[in-house]
Amino acid sequence: MDERKQAALWVMEKLEQAGFAAYLVGGCVRDELMGRQPQDYDVATEARPEQVQAIFPRTAPTGLQHGTVTVVHNDLPIEVTTFRIEGEYEDRRRPSQVAFVSSLKLDLARRDFTVNAMAQDRHGELIDYFSGMSDLEAKVIRAVGDPMERFQEDALRMLRAARFVAQFGFSLDAEARQAMVQLKRECRFLSVERVVSELEKMWKAMAPSAGLEILADTGLFAHLPPFCQWADGRQLAIERLERFDWVRDRIVRWSYLLSLCKTDMAGLAARLNQLKLATRDKEAISACMQLGLTWQRQTDEEWKRRLYRFGLDALQRAGQLACLLELRRPEDPDEMKLAAWWRAMPVKHTRELAVSGTDLIRQTGRQAGPWVGRTLAYLAEQAALQRIPNEREALLKEGCQFGAKYTQ
Ligand code: ATP
Ligand code: MG
Repeated sequence: MDERKQAALWVMEKLEQAGFAAYLVGGCVRDELMGRQPQDYDVATEARPEQVQAIFPRTAPTGLQHGTVTVVHNDLPIEVTTFRIEGEYEDRRRPSQVAFVSSLKLDLARRDFTVNAMAQDRHGELIDYFSGMSDLEAKVIRAVGDPMERFQEDALRMLRAARFVAQFGFSLDAEARQAMVQLKRECRFLSVERVVSELEKMWKAMAPSAGLEILADTGLFAHLPPFCQWADGRQLAIERLERFDWVRDRIVRWSYLLSLCKTDMAGLAARLNQLKLATRDKEAISACMQLGLTWQRQTDEEWKRRLYRFGLDALQRAGQLACLLELRRPEDPDEMKLAAWWRAMPVKHTRELAVSGTDLIRQTGRQAGPWVGRTLAYLAEQAALQRIPNEREALLKEGCQFGAKYTQ
């Protein structure tokens, strides 16, 4: 058995010995029933946070305001959350307060979808007040209770619905879809972080198109921050969304989404900042789009130059994007060919050159200056493209000629 599950069961046993009911809840119950590996095992209990803290020697107060204490057992963290109901959603983002309750049923009733509202006791007995199991079998995402009410409480649930559809290949209950059409404007108040985090989960799915089609078809996408601010790019057309399923790479999926939102290179940086992506991701998406949007017939040498300048990953991703955008021709180098060229490239970085800056300075007798870096960069690219061999004598000769163009 999964050691995290073992740890969660141990926590539940201790809680029960102390007189408190405790259950596995939410995603882990759903995932196990679906035969998927759960991300984490969450425990819900009637014990109050301070009681949980008193029972276990190692705890961390990771979310006390929501009733969550992280218990550490065998160095594994297990989130233990007190049964709770949520108060008003004043800012339409987060409940303004939570109230602890002693009933598991009330705790399950506040959860978003029936398949996420099941619990399991320590002995594996399923507790299913809202027909989650039959919806799981029918492969339907259905709100717990009235979707209009539930989506008004927290607009993120609408996006989560689309995400679960993508992730599990389920369909969306008709009433929930209808409620999304009516309440889509509520999404304007969501934080970019919550929206992006759901999209990231969508990108992990084999077939995100089903989820995106819901966002496009209900019109919800146009109301999601930050896309709702992109006057010319917030309408996500339903055509060509199935192409998201042709690729797996999240960078390519982001790039394709940005392309569908009519993002050009001039506007890209600002949009990437609005999405608040990590620097690494912003760079990877920029490279993918720069190469992908300008994909066209090239000489082999020009392909290799791009390969050298951007790297194999970037060019392979750009090729995938170009394919989705119908810019790629059958005769263009495929990923195998790019990889073969990459492997055969004698120099992939200036530091792999057979000469150093010091060598150039010694050889020319000149003072160090910007010319050194420029010359090395030039030599490295020439060697990468096999225009000169990566050998000391040849490089020094070529380097001296090239460096002479620079006065400093
Ligand atoms: P994942 O596989 O992405 O972790 P999950 O279902 O576990 O999916 P989490 O965001 O980890 O999703 O939330 C855990 C559980 O908390 C959910 O299964 C659901 O019962 C409940 N939940 C999470 N977010 C909401 C929400 N916005 N509204 C209502 N219930 C929610
Ligand atoms: Mg989870």
